[in-house]
Amino acid sequence: MIELEKFNKKYEGKAKILYETSDPNYLIQYFKDDITSGNGEKKDILEKKGIYNQSICTTIYEYLAECKIDTHLIKSINNREQIIKKLSMFPIEVVIRNYAAGSICKRYNIKKGYKFSTPLLELFYKNDSLNDPLVVDALVTEMNWCDNSELKEIRQIAHIINHRMIEFWNQYKITLVDAKYEFGFDCNLDIILGDEITPDTQRLWNRKGESLDKDIFREGNDMSKVSSVYEHINELINYQSIVDNPENTFAEKGYD
Ligand code: 5GP
Repeated sequence: MIELEKFNKKYEGKAKILYETSDPNYLIQYFKDDITSGNGEKKDILEKKGIYNQSICTTIYEYLAECKIDTHLIKSINNREQIIKKLSMFPIEVVIRNYAAGSICKRYNIKKGYKFSTPLLELFYKNDSLNDPLVVDALVTEMNWCDNSELKEIRQIAHIINHRMIEFWNQYKITLVDAKYEFGFDCNLDIILGDEITPDTQRLWNRKGESLDKDIFREGNDMSKVSSVYEHINELINYQSIVDNPENTFAEKGYD
């Protein structure tokens, strides 16, 4: 078991904070309650979102580990924090779409809900000031954001993750519409999944076609409705651990 001391803040993003630790190969990832959309244009605080997302992400990354897919997660250490492997991240967001929704509908005037005959993978350059623009492979390699063989591997892993995540959500009668994944090199130069998989990073529809993800916030619903969606997804996939351990799951703890 890894026991680490938490050191200085290394990076603060819109939804998470990364802290250095006493071991240079590991970080602590803290999930915040901030919720944003439109690249931070719309912002709010959603009470307990960090707790729900930490719990959801841990369950999903543990599931992917069982599927023999490497992720940066080492373990969850409390209800908002995880120990993760430090990665050198590619500045690329990998989006896989099983159905059309969001930006692709606007970009190409595709009807929401259109089913792609094979999952569609798109790459975006991760750069807030440019609004994460869509990029083609040739530019990714030209700018050395990653090389051809790395890109090939990233694409392969992303498709495998998409396949496994479709199966994961199917057990709960939920359709995985699309998702965004981020990858990096670990200290052994293996390419592994970083960041998070949560309702912030995926579109999830129930069998009636209702959204169970951040679209509820993007669409301007009231915050109690947004909260109920994150809480519902957490309860759905973590039902047993919540029943066994309700105090640990929701009680706020010291995070210093
Ligand atoms: P779209 O391109 O339709 O905006 O997003 C496609 C999918 O990727 C959605 O599930 C969306 O939540 C996710 N996604 C795309 N860009 C980002 C991003 O910058 N941050 C987060 N958290 N998710 C994103």
